[in-house]
Amino acid sequence: MALIVQKYGGTSVANLDRIKEVAKRVIKTREEGYDVVVVVSAMAGETDRLLNLAREAAPEPDERELDVILATGEQISSALLAIVLNSMGYKAKSYLGHQIKITTDSFHGKARITSVDAEKIFSDLHEGRIVVVAGFQGEDERGDITTLGRGGSDTTAVAIAAVLGADLCEIYTDVDGVYTTDPNICEQARKLDRISYDEMLEMASLGTKVLQIRSVEFAKKYGVTIHVRSSFNETKGTIVCEEDTEMEKALVSGVTYDKNQARIEITKVPDRPGVAARFFDAISAANIVVDMIIQTASLEEGYANMAFTISKTDFPRALGIARSLARELGAKDVIAEEDVAKVSMVGVGMRSHSGVASKMFRALAKEGINIKMISTSEIKISCIIDTKYTELAVRSLHEAFELGKERK
Ligand code: ASP
Ligand code: MG
Repeated sequence: MALIVQKYGGTSVANLDRIKEVAKRVIKTREEGYDVVVVVSAMAGETDRLLNLAREAAPEPDERELDVILATGEQISSALLAIVLNSMGYKAKSYLGHQIKITTDSFHGKARITSVDAEKIFSDLHEGRIVVVAGFQGEDERGDITTLGRGGSDTTAVAIAAVLGADLCEIYTDVDGVYTTDPNICEQARKLDRISYDEMLEMASLGTKVLQIRSVEFAKKYGVTIHVRSSFNETKGTIVCEEDTEMEKALVSGVTYDKNQARIEITKVPDRPGVAARFFDAISAANIVVDMIIQTASLEEGYANMAFTISKTDFPRALGIARSLARELGAKDVIAEEDVAKVSMVGVGMRSHSGVASKMFRALAKEGINIKMISTSEIKISCIIDTKYTELAVRSLHEAFELGKERK
């Protein structure tokens, strides 16, 4: 029998009425002749509630214990769904991560799945059961409970789909799919029918929140086809899959933005070997992830300017490090900018088309938006701009690349 893994997010299981709707959908799939494994998130708001509770107990709760608490959210929703399915006359059984041997490494709060035991699931399916799995959790080699990071149920679902060799992994959420850009700021935003793993990976890491990045990495690695769709209607969503020639025809697939950015520039650093190393060693030792880096050196004067971006959350610490190193290295000044945003264009079509970057810069220039930094990869171009222009930039780029029009 064909097998479908369905994952329902927090808003889809927010209360008993919603859980009953989910049960109906699961049953419908079952009646269509599929074996169904369901992965659920905690009920909406529950993970935040648990997190706050733990932080009330101690501002920096012990990581191991925090995971024990956080994992309870999914324990409740998975059992509730199994109870409802049983009451509707369908055999169902819920499992916590460790019960089906979802084994992870030991990085509490951001653990990675290393293996899943498919045996138990297969034997339940064989006996005609619907299997419900608590998302977001696993167990490490020591037998301690771990969690996979916020949004981690997506990854649970894809990992299970990979291990079971499922025909499809449906991710049910509260939006209709993946859009060309944020519909909240651009009316013309259009739902994409299909998007490649690579594009989705870029979009997810650039701020599109529909899927946890790691779930897409998994899907790509194991060739799991994902269907992102809404649990609130019957509309077809977006298929995330292998790249095809159709996708390449489009210049770009989406525009994303990220306001959680900050920029620091150190001016007139003595230009000699080891300076950048010294600097970014200190930043990474503080566990701060640097995104863009630009260094410009003036050959004549023997100085370099160094600019980089980080997330706003890391800004105060990064600034502290920059100031003390600037002093130590004899740099002239440290310029800090907290009100910057990153707008990016993503598309596999960029690999084979030239002129995307210049078209992007032109569109921004036309609106009088100054570009502070640029970075590119094979399928992405990002610009740092003033935060206050974010919405304008997104709308004009969406317009310039005609993303509101159907792909032909
Ligand atoms: N409940 C967890 C969270 O809110 C995991 C998930 O929903 O995927 O992040
Ligand atoms: Mg989610």
